Amino acid sequence: MLRLLSELNAFAIEVAPNPQEALPLIQAQQPDLLVIQAGQPGSLSLCEQLKSQSRLAWIYCFVLEDSSDAVSQMTIDSADGEAAVHYAKKQAEALAAGADAYLNIPLNRETSQQAGWRSLITAQIQVGLRQVRNYRELIRANDVLSAIALLDPLTELNNRRAFEWELPRQIQNARERRGLISLIMLDVDFFKLINDTYGHLIGDRALKVLAARLRHNLRFYDTPFRYGGEEFVIILSETGAQEADMIANRICQIINAQPFAIDDTLDLTITVSIGAATLDSEDDPKGLSLLQRADDRLLRAKSLGRNRVVSS
Ligand code: GH3
Ligand code: MG
Ligand code: MG
Repeated sequence: MLRLLSELNAFAIEVAPNPQEALPLIQAQQPDLLVIQAGQPGSLSLCEQLKSQSRLAWIYCFVLEDSSDAVSQMTIDSADGEAAVHYAKKQAEALAAGADAYLNIPLNRETSQQAGWRSLITAQIQVGLRQVRNYRELIRANDVLSAIALLDPLTELNNRRAFEWELPRQIQNARERRGLISLIMLDVDFFKLINDTYGHLIGDRALKVLAARLRHNLRFYDTPFRYGGEEFVIILSETGAQEADMIANRICQIINAQPFAIDDTLDLTITVSIGAATLDSEDDPKGLSLLQRADDRLLRAKSLGRNRVVSS
């Protein structure tokens, strides 16, 4: 079989001496296609194992049975069809175990039919490779679409969908490790006035520059999101109330301290109001109450005069 496969020299081939040793190799190399020699102990359970792991299930499993030392010299075309039934059963077993294809071929018999068998194997391998290539393209497209779905196109920050996915995950992590987590909710002050005065394109530009300034002034494990409009949330990992208050004040200061260079002729001074809140044991696992607390405090910051932080 090995000689036959290596004659198909369009592929890089790795060989494992038995199904047990194949698994770590498969996990490490993630091959497109696997040719499994039927009849080896554990060959079908290798198929089963692969198909039960979503990370490996896409690998095309081609079970190849050597019929040259066929059971009591039966032949496929024997009159009573005994051999045909025998192989039909084996094929059914292989397919039930998760094989994508099954062939039985007299591999070791030097016959004039060798070329024909070889071309059948090659064709079956091509089918497998075609299928895996399509799968890989789908995955690539899916990755791109997932990234698009989670990204805000204007600011290139993660969007609200990403936030709603990430917050429960971080809350669960924090609770498992008895860690801390805080949330900052931030809203640009009098943003409508910027739109009304300079137009929406300048407003857009201001949001972009603001997002960049946020991003550049956070620690690498703090994640900013555009929640919507001119509102942003930041998840502060491993951060308690006191530190969150400090960070929120620093952000407020950083935004208000230096005007935003919108273009060559326009500098805008922008301020933000911020509400900060820290996870407590009463909060729900999705983080709705935590977010609500941060939002209530943001509203208080607005009513107290804007350009400030409320964190308790
Ligand atoms: P406050 O200090 O109370 O927050 O006042 P505000 O003017 O910032 O708040 P308001 O909610 O009245 O206005 C928010 C404005 O943000 C209105 C909306 O048109 C604008 N906005 C939301 N999203 C975008 C956007 O993507 N681009 C632009 N240019 N404007 C946006
Ligand atoms: Mg707002
Ligand atoms: Mg606003």
